[in-house]
Amino acid sequence: MAESVELPSRLGILPFKNKVLLPGAIIRIRCTSPSSVKLVEQELWQREEKGLIGILPVRDAAEAAAVGPMLSQGMGSDSGERSSKVQVGTSDPQRLDGKNQQDIHWHTRGVAARALHLSRGVEKPSGRVTYVVVLEGLCRFSVQELSTRGTYYTARISPLEMTKSEMEQVEQDPEFITLSRQFKATATELISVLEQKQKTGGRTKVLLETVPVHKLADIFVASFEISFEEQLSMLDSVDLKVRLSKATELVDRHLQSIHVAEKITQKVEGQLSKSQKEFLLRQQMRAIKEELGDNDDDEDDVATLERKMQSAGMPSNIWKHAQRELRRLKKMQPQQPGYNSSRVYLELLADLPWEKTTEEFEVDLRAAKERLDSDHYGLDKVKQRIIEYLAVRKLKPDARGPVLCFVGPPGVGKTSLASSIASALGRKFIRISLGGVKDEADIRGHRRTYIGSMPGRLIDGLKRVAVCNPVMLLDEIDKTGSDVRGDPASALLEVLDPEQNKTFNDHYLNVPFDLSKVIFVATANRMQPIPPPLLDRMEVIDLPGYTPEEKLKIAMHHLIPRVLDQHGLSTEFLQIPEAMVELVIQGYTREAGVRNLERNLAALARAAAVRVAEHEQTVSVSKDVHSLASPIVESRLADGGEVEMEVIPMGATNHEISSTFKISSPLIVDEDMLEKVLGPPRFDDKEAAERVATPGVSVGLVWTSVGGEVQFVEATAMAGKGELHLTGQLGDVIKESAQIALTWVRTRAADLMLAASEETNLLQGRDVHIHFPAGAVPKDGPSAGVTLVTALVSLFSQKRVRADTAMTGELTLRGLVLPVGGIKDKVLAAHRCGIKRVILPERNLKDLTEVPSAVLAGLEIIAAKRMEDVLEEAFEGGCPWRVHSKL
Ligand code: ADP
Repeated sequence: MAESVELPSRLGILPFKNKVLLPGAIIRIRCTSPSSVKLVEQELWQREEKGLIGILPVRDAAEAAAVGPMLSQGMGSDSGERSSKVQVGTSDPQRLDGKNQQDIHWHTRGVAARALHLSRGVEKPSGRVTYVVVLEGLCRFSVQELSTRGTYYTARISPLEMTKSEMEQVEQDPEFITLSRQFKATATELISVLEQKQKTGGRTKVLLETVPVHKLADIFVASFEISFEEQLSMLDSVDLKVRLSKATELVDRHLQSIHVAEKITQKVEGQLSKSQKEFLLRQQMRAIKEELGDNDDDEDDVATLERKMQSAGMPSNIWKHAQRELRRLKKMQPQQPGYNSSRVYLELLADLPWEKTTEEFEVDLRAAKERLDSDHYGLDKVKQRIIEYLAVRKLKPDARGPVLCFVGPPGVGKTSLASSIASALGRKFIRISLGGVKDEADIRGHRRTYIGSMPGRLIDGLKRVAVCNPVMLLDEIDKTGSDVRGDPASALLEVLDPEQNKTFNDHYLNVPFDLSKVIFVATANRMQPIPPPLLDRMEVIDLPGYTPEEKLKIAMHHLIPRVLDQHGLSTEFLQIPEAMVELVIQGYTREAGVRNLERNLAALARAAAVRVAEHEQTVSVSKDVHSLASPIVESRLADGGEVEMEVIPMGATNHEISSTFKISSPLIVDEDMLEKVLGPPRFDDKEAAERVATPGVSVGLVWTSVGGEVQFVEATAMAGKGELHLTGQLGDVIKESAQIALTWVRTRAADLMLAASEETNLLQGRDVHIHFPAGAVPKDGPSAGVTLVTALVSLFSQKRVRADTAMTGELTLRGLVLPVGGIKDKVLAAHRCGIKRVILPERNLKDLTEVPSAVLAGLEIIAAKRMEDVLEEAFEGGCPWRVHSKL
């Protein structure tokens, strides 16, 4: 910062057009005109000590006239006159900045400046010299007289700065003190605002403390952009108080303008920032995508979607709805919430088979029958019913016959029969699993207002199968339950009703879909849980399960070839003899269907596949190769050399090739291999004998969702207070049966010779505990009544029951045996488990017509009317107490 300077009486003058250099300001100028170059050269460049020049503002005459009389006065003393018109006349034809000298108004006050930096340059090719000068304004002066020296002006000047003593005097002036305080406060505020914005780190604040306030005023004002007039008036403020008040006003104005500007920016930013931000982000995303070569544009996607929708063949009302949704989608930004769900929805509309069908060919009944026969062993009645069904469809393609429902335990071929129907009709097949569906929304979908909503299983299945006339299997229709989330069965009712399913309404889809072309087939394990209205719409076809003989046939003719094929094997690699299949059926499976059997056979095939794969490396060609009429092979054999794999005669057929490379011996499954692969047998006929070896155990027959089963009942007594304990996950009905059984035994205790007299309490001093093994499986139903009594009688008499006899039947309190359900399955189960005699309620004998005769042939069926009949047959050597019975 310049200190007080000694000014010479004359200064070379550099005119500043419409610009003012204030003391304390630093400016960089480029001098190119001959006069200014000369001035710089002579006054600054060639001087040894640092020279000074004067900067005088000038303005155009036209502008000066507009400003008014202030500037149009003649040259005179500095007091009150601030501008002078210099008459240079024709003696100096030089033009200043390209203007006629006469048009120039010179200001009478200027600022002396010194050069902080000088650099000289020579322009090529003209050789013109130019200077770049960095000037610092030092102090004000007033022009006494202006004249030209050669090409540039000089002026006689007098300094305008106060002397030291004058300064000291002013500094005492209270007005000055107030003004300077005011100025400093405003300046400080401005600095802090600027520092906040520009993070200048407090450097400007130092100025406030070190520089005298009157100089500060100039420095501050010089740093703003203010009008030329204001600059001039600042230059003219020689009086310190005037200068300070003017500076305070200007600084304050600048401060206000910053505040206003800030407010405006904030407002504008607030309005624009969101959309601008989105725009910027989108631009960035596009750039990133381009960089990654991932140019799939959203717009292209929407266009593709629209094309797909156009070709989906939607009915006109749905097409209108879809278009509305598409228009909405087009207006959305991909980042907008709802865009994605709207898109997924439209994709579904475009994907659904509104009119796409597989062409249904004329049903050839004979071919269909052959197909059913070749796919399934036995099941003659079922196949006959299916053929009838197909025949009706052939005569009347849009016949609204009942929906077929295959009911039976797992693995009896329900699904594969349904798929055979589809192939007989030449239609696509789709399986919809309904097992465990408790929520109506699983069938009908969730409304789109839910987050993560989806279409129901039916619409989803149709999308997957992509035709509107498939055979649709509603699998495990008995496993749908109803609870608070709605009733899936009622939704299914609508699906299966030909009157209603033309306009099936999926909540997600929200437009009707025509299901009338779909052929529905259902499966269930049991009929009982199917709600009656639903059952009413279906025709139930029973598949009770297979006898071991049937299983053997199925295994030999269907399962083994399929399993071998699935594992890339043939009978040349693996053979499973009938005896071994029988062993698997008896020792490793106890099921109504053939699913576990198939699984076990697959395990054998896997083991064989490993052996064959290992063996392949060492395969040698059998000597059968002689029979191939190939000169190449013959000649090599003639040499006695080994025949190598690649020497396959070109004309040989595949059959010849496979017979050529036969493994020396196919793997034949034997008992050893069975044990190795499947482990020790899990079931045998001795189980019943072992279980009933102790008194208190009886053999019952129950009916479960996986078919009939043999169920043991165990009873035991111990010291106690005459209580009955029941375990084995029992339902209410079975618990009541146990109560009835115990009551009946207690009332008949004397007759049955279990107690000495009718007065004797059988439970005196003891508790009875009855347990149904397989405790993890829930059990219920009344059919265990007779089995419970038998177990109790065996317990109290300490006599063992017969191991070859199983029983079923409901018991009344008076001892009558009532009929029960599932006889066919129960009899089959008894047969499977090696039971030889079955005690049934007499009124159930009629149900035996459904049992295959092969099974009946191996069983002794005993009809029971009363409980005593059961007891008579259940014990070895009959029932000796029957004679005493009063009944
Ligand atoms: P489900 O649907 O009744 O549970 P699947 O139809 O899935 O049973 O049948 C299980 C397996 O048993 C299938 O591989 C099926 O081909 C076979 N299978 C069942 N019954 C027969 C049969 N009678 N003849 C041939 N294979 C059968």
